[in-house]
Amino acid sequence: MKSNKGKISRRELLEKLSPLGKVSLDATKCTGCGLCAQECPTGALSISPGEESDTFRLLFKHGVCVACGKCVEICPEKCLQVERILETEKLDGYSVLFEDEIARCSRCGGPIGPKAMIDKLQARMTASGHPINAQFGLCPDCKTQTQFGHLIGKNGHIS
Ligand code: SF4
Ligand code: SF4
Repeated sequence: MKSNKGKISRRELLEKLSPLGKVSLDATKCTGCGLCAQECPTGALSISPGEESDTFRLLFKHGVCVACGKCVEICPEKCLQVERILETEKLDGYSVLFEDEIARCSRCGGPIGPKAMIDKLQARMTASGHPINAQFGLCPDCKTQTQFGHLIGKNGHIS
């Protein structure tokens, strides 16, 4: 009887030869920073508005992922994985890898970033003993205003 040792299945062979990749994400670690979508050369990863207002989503299109691994390399949270695989039923359309709210400035209401990223930053600062002051939830313009507003005259110049 012939041994199957060393042989690979048809599916394994297709996976090895696949020109396409599939990205998976650990949503408990992702901060929604968007660096992976910025780095992706094919547009397989992208950030788009969510269905609710003030939300966004990280989308993945299998049909254009070339399994280059650039998203995995750039991810600061190390929460992405890519495998070379062909899922013919997923060539069209997209999947939602992550979704979150957009945090807003507590003074002017302008957007300041993904809520998961702000929460994580706050947790890291607290864990390292840095006090969280009232300016933490402010956008850069409002931080400047609260720090230097009393020095800026009506003409917009520092007096
Ligand atoms: S997967 Fe990584 S790079 Fe992409 S949004 Fe999440 S944390 Fe940022
Ligand atoms: S593996 Fe390459 S092509 Fe695929 S999503 Fe990541 S960066 Fe984009």
